[in-house]
Amino acid sequence: MSDHVPIDEPHLDIAYHEGAYKPLEAANVNVMTHGFQYGIGCFAGVRAYYNADLDEAFIFRLDDHVARILQSCRILDFQTALGPAQIREIILEVARRNAYRGDAYFRPFFYTAEHRLSPRTHDVRVDFACYALPLGDYIDTSRGLKTIVSSWRRVDDDMIPARAKASGAYLNSALAKSEAIRVGCDEAIFLNRDGHVCEGSTENLFLVSDGVLVTPRTTDNVLEGITRKSLLVLAAEELGLAIEERAVDRTELYSADELFFSGTGAQVAWIAEVDGRPIADGTLGPITAKLKTLYHRVVTGREPKRAGWLTPIFAGIDTARLAGSSTD
Ligand code: PMP
Repeated sequence: MSDHVPIDEPHLDIAYHEGAYKPLEAANVNVMTHGFQYGIGCFAGVRAYYNADLDEAFIFRLDDHVARILQSCRILDFQTALGPAQIREIILEVARRNAYRGDAYFRPFFYTAEHRLSPRTHDVRVDFACYALPLGDYIDTSRGLKTIVSSWRRVDDDMIPARAKASGAYLNSALAKSEAIRVGCDEAIFLNRDGHVCEGSTENLFLVSDGVLVTPRTTDNVLEGITRKSLLVLAAEELGLAIEERAVDRTELYSADELFFSGTGAQVAWIAEVDGRPIADGTLGPITAKLKTLYHRVVTGREPKRAGWLTPIFAGIDTARLAGSSTD
């Protein structure tokens, strides 16, 4: 029997697995593997955007993603010999070998490669893998999303730490997302155990209220989102907005002027409705619209001031050249 398992979803051919670059279809694990069976692992989701004017693709905030996955390893007590430079290089090499001229998504992850019966984080081999997909919109950002407040609460930091981007925690996300889809919505909003607003199933959440940009604190069991962090900088420095990172009540969702999700996958995705109630007049708000446009300009290399957030994949283009590439 071939050890190549056909994949019927769009994907890029070359992955990294067990220390080698290989066809994704050959990057498989045994069913006894803990990472597979118990979800013991942690991961990153990284995007690259292709700029056709420059014939270059840029990975957004690569070093931040690498730092976060290593922080996840520390939280989960995973021992790995891989340092930031090596992880960075593997992701870049997967990108280069696939030579894909389009928007792409990279999924680097650590998982426990253990086969003994009991789940554990100590005394185990931790493996690293990375695969890639072509990816446009992960959720539709062209229309307002319909959301519900989930009946599932977010895992607490002392259960499965949200800041660790731990694989197993995504069962919590999956339950909330599927509940939302079942009732005809697009996405779910989690509350904490203490009833405060937390985040979406795989996105951070922002609201605009009286011109102030508000987002739940990172101590409220949200992932410390890299898009979140970037938007906070852009909102303060480019739009001059006042920002509050604080506990957010459920009813603030209903009374917000604007509401949107942020994430590597989601990008800036606006919310038209929560629990059947329209947000303001149910249309795209002006601050969300500005941040959405600005974010897209930044990630595609059209904002020279933020070129430091971008890592070119192919020619190693001098990011200073971006100054001349603002074509829209
Ligand atoms: N929260 C959760 C639970 C997520 O899975 C993600 C996606 N990584 C985010 C927030 C957004 O984080 P980032 O902006 O770093 O992609």
